[in-house]
Amino acid sequence: MNLSVQIFLSLVLSVVVGLLLGDGAVGPVKTWIAPIGSMFISLIKMMIVPVVFCSLVVGMTSMGDMKKLGRIGIKTLCIYLITTAIAIAIGFAVAGVFQPGIGMALPTAAAPKVKEAPTIMQVFLNMIPSNPIASMAKADILPIIIFALFVGAGIISLGGKKADILINFFDASAEVCYRIIGMIMKIAPIGVFCLLMPVVVQNGPKVLLPLISVILCMAVGSVIHAVCIYSSIAGIAAHMSPLTFFRGMSEAMAIAFTTCSSAGTLPVNMKNVQTKLGVRRDIASFVLPLGATINMDGTALYMGICSLFIANVYGIPLTMDQMMMIILTGTLASIGTAGVPGGGLIMLAMVLQSVGLPMEGLALVAGIDRVLDMFRTCLNITGDAAVAVAINATEAEKE
Ligand code: ASP
Repeated sequence: MNLSVQIFLSLVLSVVVGLLLGDGAVGPVKTWIAPIGSMFISLIKMMIVPVVFCSLVVGMTSMGDMKKLGRIGIKTLCIYLITTAIAIAIGFAVAGVFQPGIGMALPTAAAPKVKEAPTIMQVFLNMIPSNPIASMAKADILPIIIFALFVGAGIISLGGKKADILINFFDASAEVCYRIIGMIMKIAPIGVFCLLMPVVVQNGPKVLLPLISVILCMAVGSVIHAVCIYSSIAGIAAHMSPLTFFRGMSEAMAIAFTTCSSAGTLPVNMKNVQTKLGVRRDIASFVLPLGATINMDGTALYMGICSLFIANVYGIPLTMDQMMMIILTGTLASIGTAGVPGGGLIMLAMVLQSVGLPMEGLALVAGIDRVLDMFRTCLNITGDAAVAVAINATEAEKE
């Protein structure tokens, strides 16, 4: 039985068992089951620092010779960043309309203290790591991201054999991180069961409906982003009709939907954009791997929806500052997200942390994460292809 089916089953099982046990079992469930769920969350959190650092350095160095790739690189990065930020905003808008999580009314005892969110200027100030090791020890992600970008730039400017050693090292390290995440995901069915069952025992059937609304938000948000943003990018830059674009992408989208891995979908995506969308090989082989590493619009959309959902669940109103902060950290977090199943869930922890939203909210999202992952991975790889089509067209005009 494959992992996604197992996770689905454990999700269903946790709800059934939780409902059968009822709130009479709260004590033993809290003592014996909930800690196993927490262990799963800790395992995921264990990977935040190594995966962010290694995959970002690899992402940076995969740009290679900065001068040669400068023009295409800047164009690609700009579109990637803008579409990612738009995705989070769409996430807020959709979640604002559907209001997932409202009325879930978790008991106040479950709502942990909320840290005061820093202002935007404090965030910029705190982004610069005065001591990167201290930032890593504290799992302070923003400074780690900045440090990783510097390390990547340093390796590129070093060049030659010495740089190759480091590139190989970080490449292999990132690969090891993905492997470990894969191992952790293997116990996800147990983790999900132990996370969700205590919630159901404590809260009964009323937790279900808001979770369905999160899935609905994700589906609606993905369709809006794909149809409005990607169709416009391909249409305006390459005069490509949405039908041609999405038909050309259908194979890769299906693979992404089922594998939940941008990295795993990359070979199919490379083939699709060249053979079906007419993108030049040199452009596809630069834009797509870079996109699979750093461009995750689906993940960003998910950050927007889930943070609003978790704020709703715990009855914490988000301020404008906090929303801006989520757009900023969400954009950066999606860049650092590994293109592997469940990569975004790890990064969601970081976004929640940045605005002081309760980490316990992750437990609710983790239960349905696989379903959400299908939508976000699909959007992630479609975004890479849309940008490849656009860059291909603008480069063709130049030559
Ligand atoms: N699974 C996603 C991807 O591979 C990453 C994520 O979990 O958000 O693109």
